[in-house]
Amino acid sequence: MNSFDYKLQAIHDRIDAVKAQVGRNDTVHLCAVSKMQPAEAVRAAYEAGQTIFGENYLQEALFKQEKLQDCDIEWHFIGPIQSNKTQAIAQHFSWAHSVDRIKIAQRLSSARAGHAQPLNICLQFNSSNETTKSGASSEEIISLAEVVQTLPNLNLRGIMALPKSVDSVKEQRAQFKLVHTIFEQLNNKGFGLDALSIGMSNDYEAAIMEGGTIIRIGSAIFGPRPHKNTSSE
Ligand SMILES: *Cc1c(COP(=O)(O)O)cnc(C)c1O
Repeated sequence: MNSFDYKLQAIHDRIDAVKAQVGRNDTVHLCAVSKMQPAEAVRAAYEAGQTIFGENYLQEALFKQEKLQDCDIEWHFIGPIQSNKTQAIAQHFSWAHSVDRIKIAQRLSSARAGHAQPLNICLQFNSSNETTKSGASSEEIISLAEVVQTLPNLNLRGIMALPKSVDSVKEQRAQFKLVHTIFEQLNNKGFGLDALSIGMSNDYEAAIMEGGTIIRIGSAIFGPRPHKNTSSE
């Protein structure tokens, strides 16, 4: 037993309670966001049973993956994706949650060639339409989905969103409801999406209420993050 057993159990208990409250019996996957946490912390969480980990910064993630090669971890890339990172992301991750433009999707698909499994993709939706935040608009996301679906080495799985942080559950739900609407629109067009990646430490309960199937939780598992050393990226 280590301290992660209790933290992870507490989150799983909350997930189950919220699912029961809204009458869901499908699976909500927990992605443990380990950005800026040391490899030892990832290993300890893995030993406590956590298998999906999300990372935002490529160099940092590759460094940890190297140290954790003996662990059967499913790595998800959840940070902004620049063109020059697509090669390594396609080769070292199972999922990319933050695809928001065609050029990035095309590069990821080419770089994934030769892999046994396609790279699982979530399109990032800019739900708050803030110019400072990445993500495709509701208009862009449909044409993006159409292109991604034709790319040979990508498997379009769903939508990811990172709405601005708001305090009340009511406001959180309103933001996630909008994301869910886009998700449903795409499915009504036949995309067959099964992943709705929404919810972080402070709003995952609202995300589950609005149909989230992957919640991305960092600080509620690992505690506060150390400050990022920007020179490492
Ligand atoms: C950091 C991060 C998270 C986790 O945030 P917490 O508030 O620590 O749970 C989730 N998703 C993305 C995209 C992030 O960058």
